[in-house]
Amino acid sequence: MKRLRTLRARFALWVAALLLAVLVAFGALVYFSLARDLSAAIDDSLQLSASQAIAAVNIENGQINFADSIPENPTVTTTGERDLTIRIFNPGGQIIQASGEFSAWPATAASITAARQQRSTFETLADPKEQILVRFYTGPIIENGQLIGIVQVAQDLEDVQKTLNRLLQALLIGGPLLVLVAAFGGYFLAARALAPIDQIIHTARRISAEDLSARLNLPATDDEVGRLATTFDAMLARLDESFKRERQFTADASHELRTPLAAMQAILGVIREERRTPEDYEQALSDISEEADRLRALTEDLLQLARGDTQSPAAYAKIDLSALLNDVADSLRPLAEAKGLALNCNIPNGLFLSGEMDGLIRLFVNLVENAVKYTDDGAITLSAQAEADQLRIIVADTGPGIPPEHLPRIFDRFYRVDASRTQRGAGLGLAIALDIARAHGGAIEVSSTLGAGSAFTVQLPGLR
Ligand code: ADP
Repeated sequence: MKRLRTLRARFALWVAALLLAVLVAFGALVYFSLARDLSAAIDDSLQLSASQAIAAVNIENGQINFADSIPENPTVTTTGERDLTIRIFNPGGQIIQASGEFSAWPATAASITAARQQRSTFETLADPKEQILVRFYTGPIIENGQLIGIVQVAQDLEDVQKTLNRLLQALLIGGPLLVLVAAFGGYFLAARALAPIDQIIHTARRISAEDLSARLNLPATDDEVGRLATTFDAMLARLDESFKRERQFTADASHELRTPLAAMQAILGVIREERRTPEDYEQALSDISEEADRLRALTEDLLQLARGDTQSPAAYAKIDLSALLNDVADSLRPLAEAKGLALNCNIPNGLFLSGEMDGLIRLFVNLVENAVKYTDDGAITLSAQAEADQLRIIVADTGPGIPPEHLPRIFDRFYRVDASRTQRGAGLGLAIALDIARAHGGAIEVSSTLGAGSAFTVQLPGLR
């Protein structure tokens, strides 16, 4: 069978199936309880008629006086006009008196036997030819504890059957009709409720990586579909933003890569213009080597940024941060001293965290290198402390500080406060440091006073 492809068709089918099940259960309950009540009423009426018949029988000296006839129509019957069949048997089981439509029907042996044992019975007998059902009550007539006769009262069940048939008809016609109406209703309701989904599908089809500007802009409703539409639009906005950022990043990266390459080409162009002295060639080679170094450093930074998000905490190891920070300080101290700067450490022992060694070294090298790079005199201080389960590492310098309007952006990729001083870096160092800190579940904050210096505070979750 072909699967139903739309949600509304499935919804309509479910509604119809559910209603059908409820109607079948409810109909069966009504039908059978009505049938039971009606037959109980018939039985009561038969029993009542039997006792009236017995009361009307003339008993003399413990014998039935058959000279008196029994009344043809007792006064109380549930079915009103319908005739009752009343028969009186002697204790031997022979009919002595009978009146009514079914008086010629043979009495069943079982009912006569039961009456002889002074028990009364109900039975439903069928006339196969006329297809009618007749309910019989058979009971003993007792005088002074002695069985003196048997009374039988019968009534056909045609009225009961008619009533039940009418109910069945109503259920069989009304039920499917109701189910049909519910199915159509369900279909249209679902179609109405799901109309915005079609719009979402339509919009999603229009979207490509090149153009993420499409939005649903559905009127904001606080239902599931409304929230889906809002979420969808918000997701598109985020994707749009991140695609734009990536495109900008690629453009910036290409631009940065072009600078050292252009410099190399210029050096080569000049040196090849004419024959040069060996010293000139040496100088040119060393210039080219410098540019190649810049190029390598830049590509490494780009690689690090590209990899940044993919580092998995599963591969983290326990790292002695105290030792790591001391190593970083030791390796950069010559650089600081070459500029006449002091590099002071204030690092307690026993700071541990879970992380990736190379990344963490890079993080702190970038910060200390920046401090050295941008500070002309004074000192750089590398300090660390543990606070609750957090480690706080501060790289402070006595450099020029960062103008407040630049502070929010210095962690952006390729952002430099003074873009003209290109020699100093590509503006990726802090972006990489922040990426690494975040990958470790941490953060970096900066505070700076113009003319007095800057302090970068790295917060990382520690290990006990
Ligand atoms: P760069 O490669 O230019 O150093 P960074 O991402 O490391 O790139 O830094 C971004 C900018 O933030 C730098 O261009 C610089 O202007 C500023 N900056 C970073 N660290 C310091 C510091 N310690 N003192 C003053 N300015 C800083």
